[in-house]
Amino acid sequence: MGSISLKSVEKWFGDVQVIKGIDLDILDGELIIFVGPSGCGKSTLLRMISGLEETSRGQIMLDGNDVTHKVPSERELSMVFQSYALYPHMSVEDNVGFALKTAGAPKAEIEEKVNNAAEILKLDAYMDRRPKDLSGGQRQRVAIGRAIVRKPKGFLFDEPLSNLDASLRVDMRFEIARLHKALETTMVYVTHDQVEAMTLADRIVVLKDGLIMQVGSPRELYEKPDNVFVAQFIGSPK
Ligand code: ADP
Ligand code: MG
Repeated sequence: MGSISLKSVEKWFGDVQVIKGIDLDILDGELIIFVGPSGCGKSTLLRMISGLEETSRGQIMLDGNDVTHKVPSERELSMVFQSYALYPHMSVEDNVGFALKTAGAPKAEIEEKVNNAAEILKLDAYMDRRPKDLSGGQRQRVAIGRAIVRKPKGFLFDEPLSNLDASLRVDMRFEIARLHKALETTMVYVTHDQVEAMTLADRIVVLKDGLIMQVGSPRELYEKPDNVFVAQFIGSPK
């Protein structure tokens, strides 16, 4: 279970409105991608879903429960940060298990969950290494591992691949797709990269200036863009 509903969600920074009334139903288990130009509000919207950013108006529901005013740790959603947010002095094993340790989980449970995440992410051989001794792709997998161990109802990704080089970015795209299949969990994914969105998403949400321009499958957006902005942004022939 991991459906997320946004109801007339708005965000104001002082008297500047950056999210202008978003209504969206994210289905349990889907990989939905927010795409749009820099500054359109993708990160702000994702941070509101995670609870890292306060919602000015409207409601955020998780599995039918209102979580609008809950802190991140009460939302059962895991934000996957970019790989540079790893703890440099900790091993892979300790990085992945950190949230469980802080929550006071028993050692055996931590070990089991960490090993399980390592297996899914193919990190078994790197457990004793420090982040600096890993490749960019491996570091990104550790960052995802830190989220997996908490068994969230949904994963939230903010441009997780943007600091990887081009070829690695393509490899990691497959990795995210494989992970989504393996975990069968809702994923909300932010990118400004149209190709990434088109290859990964079940559905794409195109944002512009804090408003939804269109929601649909990659094919729907490509074949039937609602307006010129979507057509140009997605690169469809019309
Ligand atoms: P994106 O992730 O799509 O690039 P953001 O969500 O980061 O866009 O930003 C959307 C808008 O909100 C931008 O105009 C940005 O300058 C503004 N903004 C973001 N965070 C803050 C903040 N803490 N205070 C004021 N304005 C902000
Ligand atoms: Mg952003």
